[in-house]
Amino acid sequence: MKKNRLLIGLKGPFIRFYLADTTALVEEVREKFSLYPTSAAALGRVLSMSAVMGTMLKDENEQLNIAIHSDGAISTIMCIARPDGSVKGFVNNPNVYDVYEDSGKLAVGRAIGSGTLSVTKSMNMKGNFSSTVNLQTGEIGDDFAFYFAKSEQRPSIVSLGVLVDTDQSIRSAGVFFLELLPGYAEEDIVYLENLAANMQPISAQIKDFTLEEILEKNLGEVEILDERELTYRCDCSRERFQEKLLTLSRQDLLDLAKANQDIKIKCDFCGKTYTYSAQELNDWLSDAESA
Ligand SMILES: [Zn+2]
Repeated sequence: MKKNRLLIGLKGPFIRFYLADTTALVEEVREKFSLYPTSAAALGRVLSMSAVMGTMLKDENEQLNIAIHSDGAISTIMCIARPDGSVKGFVNNPNVYDVYEDSGKLAVGRAIGSGTLSVTKSMNMKGNFSSTVNLQTGEIGDDFAFYFAKSEQRPSIVSLGVLVDTDQSIRSAGVFFLELLPGYAEEDIVYLENLAANMQPISAQIKDFTLEEILEKNLGEVEILDERELTYRCDCSRERFQEKLLTLSRQDLLDLAKANQDIKIKCDFCGKTYTYSAQELNDWLSDAESA
């Protein structure tokens, strides 16, 4: 299977780029959740950007929760990304297939509608840092660019794309993110603006070229600092869902125990189901009592 590669590097001293081919990652998710094209494109864009942003985290115990809440058919997208390049995510409505009448392109912005984009960085014991912005177009790339400008005060270009084939499989998907580093000059801003104005959509470029060719074509000579692999990984476990279950109120747990039925919890991110028996629930309740 084709790998999901991310190249990180510099164009001159003040422009850092992240270029990723996430075709295999998005295809894996499309198959896993049987996503319709517009849902696949929407989740694929958020998931791809989340995976790249996860690699920007400094500490291996940190993670990013990226959420879109909106009033459109898709309603919610949730992604969790980690510094090792692994990511997981889901879209609330997997069955959206909506196309703009004029361009024939997948209507991601319309399927998302208006709402918010939230980015929460959890730093283990040190609490959370969270920032929320209003969605600009719902096309995702614009929304992340707005997020970086507003929340992190970083001028950047975000090109995000997912190309869905006629058989509804993912033809190509990727991210091209460029940001200015402290000390940048006016000419660096102009450079990025020109690049953004002339750049072909990233999904079209990934369909036809390797990552190295895309860098050469768009940026000319660059310095590559790092190469990473991006993967889809769910880290759910029986213990973790049990902990979540035990955050319910005592009364709710008693009611559940009284029903005397197995409790099934399905993980939204990987589809795995965990079953807890009424007996287990009773044991937890009596443990809690004796504690
Ligand atoms: Zn899971």
